[in-house]
Amino acid sequence: MKIILLGAPGAGKGTVAKLLSAFDGSVQISTGDILRAAVRERSDLGKKAKEYMDKGDLVPDSLIMKIMEERLREPDCEKGFILDGFPRTIPQAEDLKMLLEKLNVQLDLVINLDVPKEVILDRLTTRRTCSNPDCQAIYNIKSNPPTPDGKCTICGSPVIQRDDETEEAITNRLETYNEKTAPLIGFYGTEGLLRNIFSLNSKETVEEIKESLKLKV
Ligand code: AMP
Repeated sequence: MKIILLGAPGAGKGTVAKLLSAFDGSVQISTGDILRAAVRERSDLGKKAKEYMDKGDLVPDSLIMKIMEERLREPDCEKGFILDGFPRTIPQAEDLKMLLEKLNVQLDLVINLDVPKEVILDRLTTRRTCSNPDCQAIYNIKSNPPTPDGKCTICGSPVIQRDDETEEAITNRLETYNEKTAPLIGFYGTEGLLRNIFSLNSKETVEEIKESLKLKV
C-alpha cells in the first residue's frame, strides 16, 4: 500500500502505521522518528531540528523535504509505504506531489484519523516513553503503566516524558496542527484521495483502512 496517515498529534498514526506495516510489509516512514534518531545521534540534522521539536514547532519544510526525498528513493519503498507525520504543511504536500510524479509513484489513499479533541489531550498528557533509544516502548500512565518505580517492563530503563510532551509543548503542537496541518484535509479532498475515519480503536481503524484499500483497487 502507498498511503498517507493524517491526524493530530496523539491521533494514533504511529500505532496504526505499525499494524499496517506488519500486515503487508509496507514500510512505516515517520519523520518524527527520523528526527528523534538524528537528535540522539547529535548529527547536523539533529542539532538543527532539536530546538523546533522541543518547543512543539514544525521543523522547516526544506529540511523535511531533503529527508523525505532521500527516504522515498530507498529500495524498500517499492513494496509500499505508510507516511506517518508527513506531510505536515501545504508546501510539503505540494512538494511531495511533485516528488512522487518524478519517481512515478501513485498514492493509493490519504487517511485522516479523526479523533475527538478530549481523547487527544488525555492521550498526550498521559503518554510516557522508554528512555532507551533501542527500545522506546510507549506507555500510558493510566491504561498501560510502566513498573511502579517508573521502569520499562521490556528493558528496565527509566520511562520518561518526552521533551515535547510537556503541557506547554503539547498546547503548541495542537495549535500548530490546526493552523498548518489540518488544511491538508481539504487539499487531499480536492485531489480525490481522502478517506476520513472516526478513530478510537487502532485495530478497528486498521480494518477500515484495509476495506478502503480493497474498494480502491
Ligand atoms: P511526531 O512524532 O510526528 O509528532 O513529530 C515530532 C516533532 O517532529 C514535531 O512536533 C515536529 O517538531 C517534528 N516533525 C515531525 N514531522 C515533521 C514534518 N513533516 N514537518 C515538520 N516537522 C516535523
